Amino acid sequence: MTDNVDKLNELLKRDPDTGLYSRHILLQNLSRRIRENPKSPFAYGIIRMDEHYQRIRHYRDRQKILLYITAQRIKEIVGEEFLFQSDRSDEFLVIIPGVNSEEELDPFFQNLMDKISEPYNQPASDLSFGCHMGMALYPTHAETVEELMDNSEIALGIFEQRHDQGYIYSQALGEAHNRRRTLETIMTKAVGNNLQGFHIVYQPLVNEDKEVLSCEALMRWDAPGFGSVSPDSFIPIAEETGLINTLGHWILYSSILQVKKWREETGFNITVSVNVSSIQLEYSHYIENVRSVLESLDMDGECLHLEVTESTLMDEPEEIVKKLDELRDMGIKIMLDDFGTGYSSLSYLHQLPIDTLKIAKEFVDDILTNQKNLDVVKAIQSISKSFGLITLAEGVEHQDQFDLLIKEGCNMIQGYIVSPPVAAMEFSERFLKK
Ligand code: C2E
Ligand code: CA
Repeated sequence: MTDNVDKLNELLKRDPDTGLYSRHILLQNLSRRIRENPKSPFAYGIIRMDEHYQRIRHYRDRQKILLYITAQRIKEIVGEEFLFQSDRSDEFLVIIPGVNSEEELDPFFQNLMDKISEPYNQPASDLSFGCHMGMALYPTHAETVEELMDNSEIALGIFEQRHDQGYIYSQALGEAHNRRRTLETIMTKAVGNNLQGFHIVYQPLVNEDKEVLSCEALMRWDAPGFGSVSPDSFIPIAEETGLINTLGHWILYSSILQVKKWREETGFNITVSVNVSSIQLEYSHYIENVRSVLESLDMDGECLHLEVTESTLMDEPEEIVKKLDELRDMGIKIMLDDFGTGYSSLSYLHQLPIDTLKIAKEFVDDILTNQKNLDVVKAIQSISKSFGLITLAEGVEHQDQFDLLIKEGCNMIQGYIVSPPVAAMEFSERFLKK
């Protein structure tokens, strides 16, 4: 009888899918370790499967098998007694005893990364994925179990969001995290307070003769009591909090209203390009919202271009493609933003409901000196021509870049060579008045 109770107790400590000890056991282990050997250093870390793993979610059985195999792989490196299952099914928790510095931890990190991303055998030989990690050192970064948990989570969150290969906590990361939390609070208040501090700037999009055909509407935010915050900092926070839905609706409405006024004032049919984040596209009322904005302003879809990134398209391809089709049915043009930096292969392009490719700034930057980047631009150019797509190069700063891109067949240009993004008033003064 006691034998059976012991067995049951042992089973309850373990995760049914991976057979690993649970987080609860880990917490006990960490507390005991710190209490009994306060002077012995160790690392604590979270290993979370990456976005490629998340995309296998349609095949739940495969995911389970892959999780089990991944657990075995990690075990080989850290040892069975130091590996635990997190409460999340796509996450493992590890302890690495005896390490006291980043240099000592690096080889473990590298081994784990390499091992986890090794190819899999059947039934998953067609799948590949990696992981993100967040680690903190005891006692350098954290002296309590709670701090170890918090700081490794902070490191994981920040590196995951930045798509960075980093993994280890530092004071600077802690400060970045606090700044983010502060901004989150200020932003929630500001959005609720009539979008306090938010405004829109417009950057011209030109043809080979530098005639302005369109503009990109870009958000700016002077955070109350904080100063100007770059969109690369505040957009991810807006996405994380869901505030992007409100902000996205506001920029869509305001920039179409702006275009309507410009058209009435100048008689010139300028169009506007608005960025859409994947969170917005996933929102079930997004299409209706766009339709009602156009209707309420009495404008046709042809005045609007929506910019989506490759990763947005890859998230839920079928769902997103359906929505983009509906938008195109309204006359709206779809631009694939930051093209070349994401996952889609060139041959996949013809299956996507898009009209324009925006060649990412990183290819444009050294196009004159880096043959590889020039080759990429040439390949994009030739394939988009055969699929009847328009190409636009962004981040063009110099005349020789401009000339080369036009020579290669690029249809439109955006960048400081023409103008940085400017306020609506300046835009109409400089680009719309004859
Ligand atoms: P993006 O969509 O790739 O926008 C282009 C960025 O490049 C803009 O940065 C623009 O100011 C900058 N840029 C344009 N030409 C040049 C150039 O010649 N040189 C250099 N160095 N930069 C140039 P910005 O305005 O800081 O926006 C950054 C990102 O924030 C945008 O990247 C976009 O992803 C996001 N963002 C901005 N406004 C919105 C918005 O309304 N909604 C959403 N979802 N995202 C937005
Ligand atoms: Ca854009």
